[in-house]
Amino acid sequence: MSGIYIHIPFCASRCIYCDFYSTTLRNKGPQFVEALVHEMEERKDFLHEPIRTIYLGGGTPSQLGPECIRAILEALEKSFDLSKCEEITMEANPEDFVDGSWPFFEGRLLPGNPLSHTINRISMGVQSMVDSELKLLRRRHDSAHVLTAVRRLREANINNISLDLMYGLPNQTLASWKYSIDELLKLQPHHISAYNLSIEEGTPLYTHVQKGELNPCDDETCLAMAALLRKKLKTAGYEQYEISNYALPGYHSRHNSSYWEQTPYLGLGPGAHSYDGCKLRCWNVADVQSYLKGIRNEESETLSDLDLYNERVMLGLRTVRGINMRIFDDVKVDTVSQKALNTSLCTLIDRGLLQIKENRLSLTEAGLALGDEVIRDLMILDVNGFSE
Ligand code: SF4
Repeated sequence: MSGIYIHIPFCASRCIYCDFYSTTLRNKGPQFVEALVHEMEERKDFLHEPIRTIYLGGGTPSQLGPECIRAILEALEKSFDLSKCEEITMEANPEDFVDGSWPFFEGRLLPGNPLSHTINRISMGVQSMVDSELKLLRRRHDSAHVLTAVRRLREANINNISLDLMYGLPNQTLASWKYSIDELLKLQPHHISAYNLSIEEGTPLYTHVQKGELNPCDDETCLAMAALLRKKLKTAGYEQYEISNYALPGYHSRHNSSYWEQTPYLGLGPGAHSYDGCKLRCWNVADVQSYLKGIRNEESETLSDLDLYNERVMLGLRTVRGINMRIFDDVKVDTVSQKALNTSLCTLIDRGLLQIKENRLSLTEAGLALGDEVIRDLMILDVNGFSE
């Protein structure tokens, strides 16, 4: 089975922390859809397996509005075999479901929809339920918008809703984080993603921090926030199935799980990456203006065995299922690197951060809190050296 990712690079404004590729040229929607349909026709033979999942990400796909989204789904139905498609997710921001741009007639997300395959999952960027924190992040919504958006989605029969939160925000306290989690849980979403804010160079947030105008959250508080989240969500019945993702039983994201399992996917739109499930990775250059003119400037690389090993470790270990121990027998490296790898593995197991069960290596509960550090220790940067 394989997946399709569509990158829709439009946002109404830029959030202070964001380093994703997006622009504010959203009036270009119809022209963008035309370019996208053109790409679908050109690349319809990239995947050789039935499509299981589709993910409309961004940017803010909900900014395109129902007409453009319907046109994209129609084109997908024409170009690909969707007979086995189980999950179609659209990323959205809460304000788009409140301001009238999505009318929700007839109790449907896409009214009068003739499509056999339509959106059945919404992933919404909530980030915080504290209005002052949302303002600081320059989000366009407030907590009241979140409540209205979730209610309207349920009225439109979209029950598979994923809500995103962020922790480690400047000025955020353990108490305000607890408030956001509690408010989110009252909405009973089927899926919750929670990310530790990362301060990326080139973003306005980075500049504010450099100038001392905003103070990042310290590591100890971030760890306490992550621990509080895990505890509260576990008590509420959510399973943590990946470092940043929690779901009620049966509601994990099928699409994201396929990235972690390295199944093939086709990425459409500016900046989107594709993977053939074997050794080829290719991507469109992230340039909307060229894309609108039908120029994708595709680039590609052939993954070496070492690249594939690192990707398996990096992606697979993020999941609670972990990775098959066979990977360590298959990786071909010099004796020095092999020795360093064995030492790291033993040390991480001794520290209680990794565990082996039924020949699979996975993070323990303590390891989930330090996931990135553990994963870094098992990556091989080159055959002569070993990651620090
Ligand atoms: S809405 Fe999302 S993609 Fe757009 S600027 Fe904000 S964080 Fe980035």
